[in-house]
Amino acid sequence: MPVSVGVFGAAGRMGATVCLAVAADPELELTAAVDPGAAGEKLRTITGVDSDLEIAGKAAHLSSLPQVMVDFTHLEAGRQNVAWCADQGVHAVVGTTGFSDADLLSFGAAFTRSNCLIAPNFAISAILMMRFAELAAPWFDTAEVLEYHHDAKVDSPSGTALRTIERMAAASGEWAPDPTTTEVVAGARGGVGPGGIRVHAIRMRGMVAHQEVVLGSTGQSLTIRQDSYDRSSFMPGVVLACKKIADHPGVVVGLDEYLDL
Ligand code: NAP
Repeated sequence: MPVSVGVFGAAGRMGATVCLAVAADPELELTAAVDPGAAGEKLRTITGVDSDLEIAGKAAHLSSLPQVMVDFTHLEAGRQNVAWCADQGVHAVVGTTGFSDADLLSFGAAFTRSNCLIAPNFAISAILMMRFAELAAPWFDTAEVLEYHHDAKVDSPSGTALRTIERMAAASGEWAPDPTTTEVVAGARGGVGPGGIRVHAIRMRGMVAHQEVVLGSTGQSLTIRQDSYDRSSFMPGVVLACKKIADHPGVVVGLDEYLDL
């Protein structure tokens, strides 16, 4: 039996791509779509997906509950949608970014009948990049992270860059001190993250989401690079999560556990 899946934010950039990915997978069945801005519209017209579903304005208007709801909306909407899933006993696969530690605590208490995955990055290459950086950290004395994003991104550094640095700092506390005594141009050495690891946020027209972790010790360096070229990069992770979420109890943050990393 295919797993039934609904999508919050079905008319959005990510949500529409998720609808197409779910509809194309024989082990999943797209049974619900929610987006207040496109309520009453045919999903086919909005996303191009081969389905006769009509987009609901709110979850409360759905005639039947899917086993899994995927959320790619905005922070406040995501909070409400995740709470609704917990209330209804529906598994929640959440890609919306920006949840606080307090949000995660409240989700942890709320999910008693179903499971929840909060994954700030669904690109499997990004998950592996973070894991490889964490594994490499204890073997090097110095490390810096360069993240590259499109020129419409307004925050820096990216959540993925910060998470990478947090994990590297947790894996090793032994980083060489920064030698800089004079910064001729302010900020030339980038921002300082956990463990003193420097991060450089590059904003560039034409780019999507990319990251390099550069680690060095005497006579050698290692560069780990990850590239997301378009939204399709996130879909294998989302599809995998929809299939596996029933086996991962409670609230899980990050896709690592689903990849057995
Ligand atoms: P978007 O194009 O603005 O799509 C969001 C959609 O959600 C819009 O159609 C919006 O409608 C709709 N929406 C608002 N409130 C809703 C509600 N209560 N219920 C259902 N739908 C609602 O944004 P996007 O680019 O797809 O990004 C969505 C989120 O995904 C962001 O948080 C982004 O950071 C995150 N993201 C995560 C990953 C990852 O790998 N985890 C990757 C890429 C993006 P209106 O426009 O009418 O408000």
